Amino acid sequence: MNWEVVESRFEAASGTVFLEIRETKGLWESLRCPKDGGLVFCYDHTETLSWRHLNIFQHRCEITCRLPRGKCRQCGHVFRVRPPWEGLSPHFSKEFEAYALLLLREMPVSKVAEITQETDTRLWRMIFKHVDGAYAEADFSNVCAVGVDEMSVRRGQEYLSIFADLIAGRVIFAVEGRDSKTWQAFVQALEAHHGDRRAVTQATMDMNAGYEKGVKENCRNAQVVFDKFHVLAKASERVDQVRRAELRLDDEEAREALRKTQWLWRKNPENLKPQERARLARIQDKNLATAKAYQMRLVLQDIYRTPDVAVAERRFKTWCRWVRWVARHQKWVFKPMVQLAQMVESHLQGILAHWKWGLTNAFMEGLISVFSAVKRKARGYRSPVYLTTMLYFVFGKLRLPHV
Ligand SMILES: [Zn+2]
Repeated sequence: MNWEVVESRFEAASGTVFLEIRETKGLWESLRCPKDGGLVFCYDHTETLSWRHLNIFQHRCEITCRLPRGKCRQCGHVFRVRPPWEGLSPHFSKEFEAYALLLLREMPVSKVAEITQETDTRLWRMIFKHVDGAYAEADFSNVCAVGVDEMSVRRGQEYLSIFADLIAGRVIFAVEGRDSKTWQAFVQALEAHHGDRRAVTQATMDMNAGYEKGVKENCRNAQVVFDKFHVLAKASERVDQVRRAELRLDDEEAREALRKTQWLWRKNPENLKPQERARLARIQDKNLATAKAYQMRLVLQDIYRTPDVAVAERRFKTWCRWVRWVARHQKWVFKPMVQLAQMVESHLQGILAHWKWGLTNAFMEGLISVFSAVKRKARGYRSPVYLTTMLYFVFGKLRLPHV
């Protein structure tokens, strides 16, 4: 044994148990100089330092020790002896870190701080140490299907681009911005972790021109796939734009029918409650542009149920013609849908790639819930570096605790 407990003391005022530890003679027999492996003798001791340890029953517990400093007999190097209980952060024991990391998987940092009576700052510092260490060793050599999506850092101002390994279902990289340059940064990170840009054969994303350009410039072997989730989300968005345009028309009856229907149009008919269904049926009698746009969205969604890619291609093309035909008399109101049809036409190859790669894309839709979970956990610390670390911590499938 190289260390022994010399005293345990309970301080009633702070409700804390202190365990005082000291090195034994045995330490000096086994210790070697970190530089040249030479024999070492005790040079001096530090001031009393302390490490937060696991509670003893309900009492906070601190390990205290005046750490010895060793000096090499050969080269004269003086160094602080690293105690075996110390975690990656200077104020916690390994056991306390493992326990706190366990809690941090389940709840926000601020909540863990409250439960453990620690400060946010000390907990975050520990998370950074573990995540940085484990991320540095992460292996991306099997990455071949990549998904990218943007996450807002602060409402509509700053963005992070999040890159995911769609096969392993893990977040592998995050960087500020949402343009083509983010792919350059991604490819660098990929290759720094034993990945290969030429091995990436699928790049799944929203219909975002910047990302598409980034793939062309950096991952030439990758086929761009526009994922179903984003295409349909865009369609829902467009239906809402038609609704708002229609509300601005000078049509009292339409305005009355559309009142408080914003959420109705976002749902699918099978998910409507009976009273919502009745409401929808009444509205649909009124020949509203919004109701037609809603139908357009449902048909688009139905195309994704087609098992055959050739049939799907034909149906997408028919859909685009149909949208234009319906829009011909009310161009201004239907403009958002016509723009969507244009987008579908110009991105058709990437949209049809869904039929080839569809199975790998479940994780893309899940990213939305990943983003909100991460923001919740990092409550009060909404900046790129905190959010990135939290993304890697919870969704990076890293080896944690990193010891
Ligand atoms: Zn030495």
